[in-house]
Amino acid sequence: MTGTSALVLFSGGQDSTTCLAWALSRFDRVETVGFDYGQRHRVELDARPALLAAIKAMRWKGTLGSDCVLPIDLFRAIGGTALTDDVAIAMAADGLPTTFVPARNLIFLNAAAALGYRRGISDLVGGMCETDFSGYPDCRDETIQATAKALSLGLARETRIHTPLMWIDKAATWKLAEDLGGKALVDLIIGGTVTCYNGDLTPHDWGRGCGTCPSCDLRAKGYDGYRAA
Ligand code: ZN
Repeated sequence: MTGTSALVLFSGGQDSTTCLAWALSRFDRVETVGFDYGQRHRVELDARPALLAAIKAMRWKGTLGSDCVLPIDLFRAIGGTALTDDVAIAMAADGLPTTFVPARNLIFLNAAAALGYRRGISDLVGGMCETDFSGYPDCRDETIQATAKALSLGLARETRIHTPLMWIDKAATWKLAEDLGGKALVDLIIGGTVTCYNGDLTPHDWGRGCGTCPSCDLRAKGYDGYRAA
């Protein structure tokens, strides 16, 4: 195999769509992986095929290759989070929001690395971000890079995890999308992605969502910041 390749953890939300554009601007060949983990709202998963088709139609340095959705049903069995159960979005006793799915990013990265191993891809790209991350400890740079080290050891092959959003806020994520794909990509993110914790598809100038959950709030404020800059 010649050239560089990357596997993007692609959920169908704003962050992973921006990460996909980032990867396509840097790698020769890019594949995507999504996770069906029993999320209550499947609209993010449902949004993926149309987003991928639209991105494929745009011009990038790299080529967008195959997509794979892996089933991961253990989170539903474990339960207890607002994303998998009928639990209100609130602050829990552990100081984290009930939207925290313990170890989700760790399990996603391990699953993606296993798929990447089969595909001959050692570069993973994910939208984890420490800047406005709601305190999720599995989004921290230290966690991600320790995971990369564990994967490199466990697979006996150097595994790199790229997190282009790690140190930027939501306003800068919008700006990054514009820099990477111009207005066409920004418009696609507004009209095609879903990040809402309630799985709401009501259109707004900043994208689709309920407009009141923490995820919509973050996204809308980021968009305001981006437009004001
Ligand atoms: Zn929402």
